Amino acid sequence: MNGKIDKKRIAAAMNDAYGKFRDDSSGKNADYIPYLAGIPKDLFGIAVCLADGDTLTVGDTGYAFGIESVSKVPTAILAMEQYGRKEILDKIGADATGLPFNSVMAILLENDHPSTPLVNAGAISACSLIRPTGNGRRKWAAIHGFIEELCASKVSLISELYESEAKTNFNNRAISWLLRNYNRIYDDPDMSLDIYTRQCSIGVTAADLAIMAATIAFEGRNPVSGRRVFRPEISPCITSLMATVGFYERTGDWMFSTGVPAKSGVGGGIMGVVPGVMGIAAFAPPLDGAGNSVKAQKAISYMSEQLHLNVFGAERASVECECRQTEPA
Ligand code: GLU
Repeated sequence: MNGKIDKKRIAAAMNDAYGKFRDDSSGKNADYIPYLAGIPKDLFGIAVCLADGDTLTVGDTGYAFGIESVSKVPTAILAMEQYGRKEILDKIGADATGLPFNSVMAILLENDHPSTPLVNAGAISACSLIRPTGNGRRKWAAIHGFIEELCASKVSLISELYESEAKTNFNNRAISWLLRNYNRIYDDPDMSLDIYTRQCSIGVTAADLAIMAATIAFEGRNPVSGRRVFRPEISPCITSLMATVGFYERTGDWMFSTGVPAKSGVGGGIMGVVPGVMGIAAFAPPLDGAGNSVKAQKAISYMSEQLHLNVFGAERASVECECRQTEPA
């Protein structure tokens, strides 16, 4: 069959997915961060952003939830933008750990780098690298501003989530100091951890994540703002990181069954990148045992099947729409 799809077909698949999974009550909100346990379980939204900046939405796509681990993606991009791909590969790495997101064992097993910027250890290490170093306030401004550029919208810290996480992040404190022990953290360990905790506590909507994903899918050009946010050569690198470790120890299962490079967060969001085609995002708080949103996975899997989004498929979808004018790099 021909891989060409249009907005009507995308909207139909999205609405179908929403109707099919809306009443699915499996999974459980994350509760190791107390704030997340209290988020209404029934929230559910799906969003798709296309090359012309059109963002199709269904359900609760305006609700700002904790970005959590999806924030590892923008910080990894910013680190590659500031240091180049090679230095990030050398200093942090690009291998899946095959272990849970917050694994201390993964740090002990790898003796020269933290594996990948998309697990907690590598993400804290990436936060430590972000310039300017030695100044938490300015480092935070750089990360926060970069996330806003990727989403083409203002995003704010959810203070209640930040406080909840900062009070209970004992495991991450251990990771940060263990990285220090192995010289794999490049700024003050407590400050780097604080920046990491803040970035995880940013509130985003499913529509914001679809736009961020589209910016990656269209090689660093944000299709909504028309601005070039990062260098095009970084796109395949970040997409490959998402494909190898975006769902932690369940990443292989996800890629095998869905074929959409994606990153999940314990706030219930999932952001998927279909290079050159679309950014896709879904949000629903209840998670599976590995910390991935149950309904968001089902929605994106369903749409991948209906629209042929599998990046390994020979008949992969293409969408015809006009791109907006891009700012010169
Ligand atoms: N802030 C969370 C943590 O570090 C993020 C985990 C996730 O979303 O996978 O535990």
